[in-house]
Amino acid sequence: MGRNISRPGTENDRKRSLKLALGVAVVATATAGLAVPSAAAPAPADNCGGGYVGLTYDDGPAQGFTSSLLSALRQNGVRATLFNIGQNAQNNASLVSAEKNAGMWIGNHSWTHPHLTQTSQSQMLSELQRTQQAIQQITGTAPRLFRPPYGETSATLKSVERQLGLTEVIWDVDSQDWNGASTAQIVQRASGLQNGQVILMHDGYSTTIQAIPQIAANLRSRGMCAGMISPSTGRAVAPA
Ligand code: ZN
Repeated sequence: MGRNISRPGTENDRKRSLKLALGVAVVATATAGLAVPSAAAPAPADNCGGGYVGLTYDDGPAQGFTSSLLSALRQNGVRATLFNIGQNAQNNASLVSAEKNAGMWIGNHSWTHPHLTQTSQSQMLSELQRTQQAIQQITGTAPRLFRPPYGETSATLKSVERQLGLTEVIWDVDSQDWNGASTAQIVQRASGLQNGQVILMHDGYSTTIQAIPQIAANLRSRGMCAGMISPSTGRAVAPA
């Protein structure tokens, strides 16, 4: 499922380190230090000069997970986009409200999580529209972002998304949390995120929740911040 998984320590990382370290004598080239921030260029918590990444959590809200996920995100000062499954949202309305109150962005992830490209256009419309309505009912706002289940899309699906004013968001980095990745592996994959990129994670794994402190620390060490995903471009940007 993963595509284009970025590796840390690339040429771009080194260029970014150079940029961030302007005026600093020692330039750190190793950016894979994860929880241990570089001694050369410590970045203040509000320094986002390295850019923004989109942390995304799919398939919630889920009893027993969403509250812990939100606590971890808030404790570590990061905001994320939560792609909710419509029927989960309807069945757990208070958790959807909690997501919104915690400052998260809420996206549409279909009503029942089917392989949409194998369904009819009218089923696609129903899956997306019901979810729009349920989330709007709970939060007062209809989502602007849509993530197709399994990342599977088609021209027909894209036309349905356009009809509902939704921007499709896939991902640049797959954390593989759905595939049994350890917390360390999730942290390692997130450490490869570049400015504007989006990582796939899920609301439903304790390994994923446990990765949040180290993901947040690694972003800080690179002068990067967790941003929102722009409905115009589908890329991570500064929160509006
Ligand atoms: Zn999903």
